[in-house]
Amino acid sequence: MGLQLPHGGPHVLHGGQTLKVSITSIDVAGKRVLVREDLNVPLSDGGIADDTRVRAAAPTLQHLAQRGARVIVMSHLGRPKDREPALSLKPVAGRLGQRVGREVQFAEDCVGERATTAVDRLQSGHVLLLENVRYHREDETNDAGFARRLASLGDLFVNDAFAASHRAHASVVGVAAYLPAFAGELMEAELAALHQALDNPRRPMVAVVGGAKVSTKVGVLRNLLKKVDLLLIGGAMANTFFKAKGWPTGSGLVEDSALDEAKAVANEAGEKLLLPVDLVCARKMQAGEALRILESDKVEPGWMALDIGPRSVREFTQRLKGAGTVIWNGPVGVSEIRDFADGTKAVGEAIASSGGYTLVGGGDTIGAIESLGLAGRFSHVSTGGGATLEYLEGKELPGIAILKEA
Ligand code: ADP
Ligand code: MG
Repeated sequence: MGLQLPHGGPHVLHGGQTLKVSITSIDVAGKRVLVREDLNVPLSDGGIADDTRVRAAAPTLQHLAQRGARVIVMSHLGRPKDREPALSLKPVAGRLGQRVGREVQFAEDCVGERATTAVDRLQSGHVLLLENVRYHREDETNDAGFARRLASLGDLFVNDAFAASHRAHASVVGVAAYLPAFAGELMEAELAALHQALDNPRRPMVAVVGGAKVSTKVGVLRNLLKKVDLLLIGGAMANTFFKAKGWPTGSGLVEDSALDEAKAVANEAGEKLLLPVDLVCARKMQAGEALRILESDKVEPGWMALDIGPRSVREFTQRLKGAGTVIWNGPVGVSEIRDFADGTKAVGEAIASSGGYTLVGGGDTIGAIESLGLAGRFSHVSTGGGATLEYLEGKELPGIAILKEA
């Protein structure tokens, strides 16, 4: 079956320059379209604890089916050792069917006879979910033979799994060696949001970065510093910056191995960096403890900073007012415990109300906005955790690199 590459038609912007082709510009009727989604949903008691990723994947699949494609979906789920039944994607097929609004068939394997038989029987406008690609360890090793077996199931490849695109695995990257590759609608939306926030931002541009460690985010801080007008840092990460200044941090979480990196980032940032001026402290990281508000340079022995204090909230809020663009990653306190979540909630509110283009990413950050009632209030919430962070670091993600125009 010959494939007509589009001239013009919808393209996906990426990195300001490179154009990528979206599947919305390709005739898919009657074609076997092999789609990589990230359906790696959190599970509890054998059920789906949260189906955000299923909902995010649905439009691409629904539209492909409506346009007459034979839609074949691949995904991973968890990190199975061999064929762990608890990590079967079978229960996800049902939920996917509800979200896509049509029945989703299931194949008990992602390659071999069970897969090929199911694909051969699959009709136009129908959707088939393949079993967990990580039941084969060759997925993660990006084995060429395995990639070829996956690719043999399709005529076209669509990578819609933005959240898995920092991984050079067979089902994300390898198959593109054998099939023409396109961006799906979710991928397109993710790249458009990142493009809007990073490549030509409305100013002033503010980044809010929190979380536990400097070391996991030093690349993000460095790359964002090149672009932003203001960098607000909170969370345990701020403790490491305080210690690097020679301030006492009590028993707060500090990353001693990252003191030099924190110092370097602070030097590079100069006036752009704003750290909390006061902190909510307790003796233990648990609910119901006695709390004290301490100045950031006066944390006492035995006390730990677990949230930003009220003066910091006012200052951060003030600085976020009227921002043209805000990028937020990382809670500014231990937001999983309600006693230490006020700062994150207030900063989230301030970002949502800033009036600017607001982009939020990060696994725990998304958890925080949901539990604190902030969901739905940002311009874009990225489905990626690690993938979003790597993108914000300025790295080229392998699953996006393969979408380059031929
Ligand atoms: P994301 O997943 O959104 O990228 P991170 O994983 O970097 O965010 O950071 C979230 C973690 O940081 C949470 O587990 C939170 O409890 C922790 N954290 C934030 N502030 C503090 C603090 N002051 N002390 C200890 N842990 C903190
Ligand atoms: Mg995290």
